[in-house]
Amino acid sequence: MVAGELARDYDSELVETIRGNNFIYREGRVAIHLAQEFGFCYGVDRAVDYAYQTRKKFPNRTVYLTGEIIHNPHVNTRLRSVGIRFLSDPSESSDQINEDDVVILPAFGVTIEELERLTNSGCTLVDTTCGSVLNVWKNVRQYARDGYTAVIHGKVKHEETQATASQARITDNGRYVIVLNREEAVLLCDYITREKSLDSFSSYFRNACSADFNPSQDLVRVGLANQTTMLMSESLEIGQLIRRAMITRYGEQNIDKHYQAFDTICSATQDRQDAMQILLDSADLDLAIVIGGYNSSNTRNLARICARKVPTYHIAEPTCLTSTSELRHLPSASSTGAIVEQVARDWLPNSGNLSIGVSAGASTPDNIVGQVISRLAELAKIE
Ligand code: SF4
Repeated sequence: MVAGELARDYDSELVETIRGNNFIYREGRVAIHLAQEFGFCYGVDRAVDYAYQTRKKFPNRTVYLTGEIIHNPHVNTRLRSVGIRFLSDPSESSDQINEDDVVILPAFGVTIEELERLTNSGCTLVDTTCGSVLNVWKNVRQYARDGYTAVIHGKVKHEETQATASQARITDNGRYVIVLNREEAVLLCDYITREKSLDSFSSYFRNACSADFNPSQDLVRVGLANQTTMLMSESLEIGQLIRRAMITRYGEQNIDKHYQAFDTICSATQDRQDAMQILLDSADLDLAIVIGGYNSSNTRNLARICARKVPTYHIAEPTCLTSTSELRHLPSASSTGAIVEQVARDWLPNSGNLSIGVSAGASTPDNIVGQVISRLAELAKIE
């Protein structure tokens, strides 16, 4: 449940009722099972609350966000409607910021360079960077100081991963390389063990590693980090792969000198992924709906977990449920592909009892979840 100022905008009576009813909602032939952890996480809740408070505290000053505060279109539109401007808009530029302005940093943080630029402008900064992201940064900085290259499991273009990678540059020798998934981790391992010639390293990782990355030196000692919203099981597997590759190259007795890892998936991400798995294991679902922005990494990973077991539709908002025969969604086969919304036909069986699982990413407010559930129940009545 969201707190304070946010309750009016983002709470849902229906969702509260479902929570109180053991996370199940029945209407005619349909049973909707809500995952026991879903939606707004503590970091998002706090970031959005800070943004509202900032607007209130500085009514006569221009308030900016560096970009989307979280990956949810409704929340960002709502913040625009209270007069908060987005520096990521083509019409805005961070060069225009001065000491009269207020700039809010998002939950996933900003790069060291961007923070320096903003600090130098003299503006008032409101930092909503989540504590779980700061925890990852702390480890990446320690890797850099100790001479370990940070291997970051994340998406190169994601704001959080860019910010995390920038932390490695806290020392002149700090290095990082980003791997998106298991396949890229296997490739990296082949370079560590020299199964692949280092000559081809830059052709694969050129855009995903620090400048001046020298694989013959910079893959000798590595530490694992991750974007906090990645699939936890994949992060753990990537860690094991890299550890094994280091053992192959340097021997088990030397592993501590060549590989380090800390648990840096945030607990909110983990709780949502665990709850989704529990729901899949305990309820005999016919299909699942996962709600969240299409650019929300943690929502896409929830959809990936579901898609392993049941037909799954990742939808951005209630209007995606067009009719019983048509639904707009982002196919959930991968967490990484381009964002291309597709139309699914005949997605809702039109007779017999139906059991539908529902979850939502960490940037999806309860009111959107409630609207989706109402729409599902309404459509399921149409036989
Ligand atoms: S998903 Fe985790 S790291 Fe990201 S804002 Fe939420 S609690 Fe913080």
